[in-house]
Amino acid sequence: MRTKTIILLAMLLTAAVGADAQHVRFGRYFTGGTLRIDCVREGNAEGDTVWVSRWVDRNADWHGPRKVLLDPFDNGDYRVVVRDARSGLDLFSRCYSNLFREYKDTPRGKKTKARFEETLLVPMPKRKVQIALQKRDASQQFFDATVVTFDPARQHLDTVWREGDRRDLEVHGDPSKRVDVVIVAQGYGDESPQKLAIDYYRMKEILFRQEPFASHRQDFNVYGVCGDVEANYNTFGIDRYLMTFNVHRLHDLLGTTPCDFIIIMVNDETYGGGATYNFYAVSSLHKMAEYVLPHEFGHHFGGLADEYVDEDLSYANLHRTDYEPLEPNITNLKDFGRKWKAMLPEGTRVPTPDNNDVPKSECGPLGVYEGAGYSAKGVYRPTMHCMMRDYAPYCPVCLQRLEEVFSVYTK
Ligand SMILES: [Zn+2]
Ligand SMILES: [Zn+2]
Repeated sequence: MRTKTIILLAMLLTAAVGADAQHVRFGRYFTGGTLRIDCVREGNAEGDTVWVSRWVDRNADWHGPRKVLLDPFDNGDYRVVVRDARSGLDLFSRCYSNLFREYKDTPRGKKTKARFEETLLVPMPKRKVQIALQKRDASQQFFDATVVTFDPARQHLDTVWREGDRRDLEVHGDPSKRVDVVIVAQGYGDESPQKLAIDYYRMKEILFRQEPFASHRQDFNVYGVCGDVEANYNTFGIDRYLMTFNVHRLHDLLGTTPCDFIIIMVNDETYGGGATYNFYAVSSLHKMAEYVLPHEFGHHFGGLADEYVDEDLSYANLHRTDYEPLEPNITNLKDFGRKWKAMLPEGTRVPTPDNNDVPKSECGPLGVYEGAGYSAKGVYRPTMHCMMRDYAPYCPVCLQRLEEVFSVYTK
């Protein structure tokens, strides 16, 4: 018991020192401003290339974390790394995904190349750095796909003047210690200001009705920005899949607004939504938005996987691989120790037999239930029901990850 306590203390101490060291690093290497990097990714199932298309001075303070500079989650398909040019030290990193992973598994994406926009926000460096745009190899390890040098003394930076109409919806404090969420209102050109205000309020309250967001309300700042990004239904031929490809335009609209996370609110009553990790989330105004929005925010904010089964999707085989899925809330039992194994009650059967008596308003007991990540076989989820499966409350495994994300953004 005593050894355990000492080990735990040592771990906590290391974590604290790590965060402080990174805080020192922030002031030493970064100005406090924000560098926006617009990129283009082009490819198909055979491969892809990525390049920087534009450097932008966001003319805004860095709103992201200042203590946890290196992304602690090994999640998402891509990672941007800011590296000191002189020492080679990694100064900042952030993982993310975009629509390309799904595109390359579609019938069209197997052969035809397509272009996808990405916008990366990083703290503005004081001196010359390398920007590494990383992707994963066959064994899921990150490697540098493209490396470009950025020298603040030499690089011309664009500025953006096309900012959307912004308002503060609920601001609790310093953006660098809050989760800054922007609700981007699309399709409000002919609407009254009253309708816009009502819809902003509805979306914000939907988010704050759901745990763990309800308990963390004070940790958020919420802003509204009005302007069009052409989000459309039927992305990749899936009628409910509502997404936008205009990511650069989206960030033009955001202008200087702090935006750790982005929710696009589409002024339409049809059922639909979508999201990618650390990129953006979308929801329409359909009455099911009460559930669609927290579900999509789970993907966007927590990098959570879908826990439902849909074998008709072109990417239904996404997680039936030799490697453990990156997302925390599903497993293919290749390396279950990295997932929620330690949280299981003693004597839990793996896989756990289905318990159809659990009502959909509850998650039910923690276990390892077959059927998740679109696959009916070979991929497992933590509980019978979850927000990421069928709009139940988030399961304990999803909740744990969401809490970890809060701790990164509020330090
Ligand atoms: Zn989903
Ligand atoms: Zn879950």
